[in-house]
Amino acid sequence: MAIQNKTLFDKLTELGGNLWWSWQPEVTQVFRDLDPAQWTELGHNPIRLLDQMGADRVERRATEAGLHTRINWAYRRWHEYMEATDSWGATHAGVLGQRPTAYFSAEFGIHESLPIYSGGLGVLAGDHLKSSSDLGIPLVGVGLFYSQGYFTQSLDSNGWQQETYADLDPELLPMAPAQTPHGDPVVIQVDTRSGPIYARVWQVNVGRVRLLLLDTNVDRNSEEDRKLTSRLYGGDQRTRIRQEILLGIGGVRALEVMGIQPGVIHMNEGHSAFAGLEAIRQRMHDDAMPFDSALRETAAMSVFTTHTPVPAGHDRFSGELIQEHIGPLADQLGLSHDALMGLGRVEPNNHGELFCMTVLALKVTRRANAVSSLHGVVSRRMWAPLQPWTSEDEIPIGHITNGVHVPTWLAAQMRMLYDRVLPLSWYLRTGEPEVWAPVEHLSAGELWETHQTLKNRLITYARNRLQKQARRLEASESTIAELGSVLDPQALTIGFARRFAPYKRADLIFRDLEELRRLVSSDDRPIQFIYAGKSHPADNPGKQILQRVFHITQEAPFKGRVIFLDDYDINLARHLVQGVDVWLNNPRRPLEASGTSGQKVLLNGALNLSILDGWWAEAYDGSNGFAIGSGRTHVNQDIQDARDAESLLRVLTQEVVPLFYERDHDDLPQGWIRRMKRAVRTLGWRFNADRMVMDYVRESYVPAAGGLSCQMRK
Ligand SMILES: *Cc1c(COP(=O)(O)O)cnc(C)c1O
Repeated sequence: MAIQNKTLFDKLTELGGNLWWSWQPEVTQVFRDLDPAQWTELGHNPIRLLDQMGADRVERRATEAGLHTRINWAYRRWHEYMEATDSWGATHAGVLGQRPTAYFSAEFGIHESLPIYSGGLGVLAGDHLKSSSDLGIPLVGVGLFYSQGYFTQSLDSNGWQQETYADLDPELLPMAPAQTPHGDPVVIQVDTRSGPIYARVWQVNVGRVRLLLLDTNVDRNSEEDRKLTSRLYGGDQRTRIRQEILLGIGGVRALEVMGIQPGVIHMNEGHSAFAGLEAIRQRMHDDAMPFDSALRETAAMSVFTTHTPVPAGHDRFSGELIQEHIGPLADQLGLSHDALMGLGRVEPNNHGELFCMTVLALKVTRRANAVSSLHGVVSRRMWAPLQPWTSEDEIPIGHITNGVHVPTWLAAQMRMLYDRVLPLSWYLRTGEPEVWAPVEHLSAGELWETHQTLKNRLITYARNRLQKQARRLEASESTIAELGSVLDPQALTIGFARRFAPYKRADLIFRDLEELRRLVSSDDRPIQFIYAGKSHPADNPGKQILQRVFHITQEAPFKGRVIFLDDYDINLARHLVQGVDVWLNNPRRPLEASGTSGQKVLLNGALNLSILDGWWAEAYDGSNGFAIGSGRTHVNQDIQDARDAESLLRVLTQEVVPLFYERDHDDLPQGWIRRMKRAVRTLGWRFNADRMVMDYVRESYVPAAGGLSCQMRK
């Protein structure tokens, strides 16, 4: 069909079918303008919106609201984007050519309307796909389709987390059955000792990048296996290993059936490490190679990113589970049970050791990296026993620090501000330091005003959400009315949102409630807090911390000044990171491998107040944010917590609050604004996903694909 003959509805349908729209604020705005109330109601899902409205109403509405030009413009821009050939990748990743990187991850957080992520790992994977698309890197994502997602969070009247699950309808999501080169639907099979598991495969288009999602909800499976992929991180160890053989082994098979020959296999975290074993099997079969050579060849083209700085956080499986699920593959590889188990053990012959997915990943890849400089040190120390003959700093685990996808996280209003001072094509060159330097020329008044606008928007949004939460709990009308005026748009606003895992210490600041009461109820320099975050359904200590936060939000003087917003997701994250003044991050060092939410915040002009852990340990320079503590840790957890809590309150009262409230005759906090600019200038170029993906290409993908080698940074 020629473009001219397409109706607006056709064009919108095509746009809605590729998640490219989700990082184009102008295109998102077009969908919203079709019917703002429905847009919210339908979870920002254009396919559902178009389905509900129908072609006639869409055409009518487009005429009424004068949307023709914007729709045509969006459609043209999308085609230009898809067809562009002069990308960074064309120049720097040519060796990948017809053999893309296959990027495996258990979760992908691309947009709130496709809820197949739980937190940072997923959002990182989503940002990786988007930047790869923008940069023109040949890459295909491989994951699982969780038909019930992670879960929807609400709190009961006592602040205890409730989880609800709803079935997603693939028909109303931006995905279609993946196809073989002959146009047939893709179905793969993974054998276990207790029978085969089948999966169909969906294809999601993320700009120029494809994402394949395996889904066991097919007739041929048993009732139990049909539900196998329904929930992310749900079920027991057996569910877990069955999901992981699907992701790893099934994922490699799906690529093969589709005729995609990867030049690089990238395992994002250990969940997908079985991919290495299946790749070895294919190699042995295709090239009639013995196991050892096939292992060497596979490792040479494989890359592993580790994310977990504590031994307990790594997936481990018993010999029985491994035998049941990997046995058939091990037979084909010619591996005895002991040899197989040895691949997942630090000491291959130690029969007391469980099978660890990270150990397997390290053994089937030649290039491995941690996700921040400090995490690199921690990871080399943790895995030093794998190579007892090597000194710790020679352990071959480098680091590539995580970054965030700028177009996804930067507020449209901030972008327009940057457009005025940054070079013309800055948007396509966010990984270059020079590009960000002119941020210093931003007018202090305009920057502050823009920030204040975004902050007001966040506060309005938070009030609405609180009212909705209260209605759900059947609160009285007067309570609901009161919630319409919580938070003060002039007060220093601190955001804290992340998974409620205990090491993130959401309640750290409550250790000295007396001092906090004073700070919150100050007449002239008040501070206020917005909290959000989910606990894993099985994490009772995490849920208790959440409940503690909830109880604080109900007590005077915190009520209305400390609030909790439920069901943290990408949408809520976007509002928060674009609207707060300060982003609080106080994990127990060194347990935060990187963290990325603080990077989203700095782009939007907020300041980080953070423990020197993860990315912040290498980002903080003394005047681009605030540091809690000095990076010292204590073996005694209680002592470390007490020290950090004390330092947090000290920095807050002595540095953060005074700087925020010190105003000039125009009521501008000049010192604060200088820090905002300094954060953007010194950090914007380093902690973004374009820079991260470029690092992966140069340091991992190109060498792994057989291009010029390059030593991974330590
Ligand atoms: C960015 C993001 C995260 C990751 O935050 P951390 O800083 O790594 O804790 C988690 N969840 C959502 C929804 C996000 O957008």
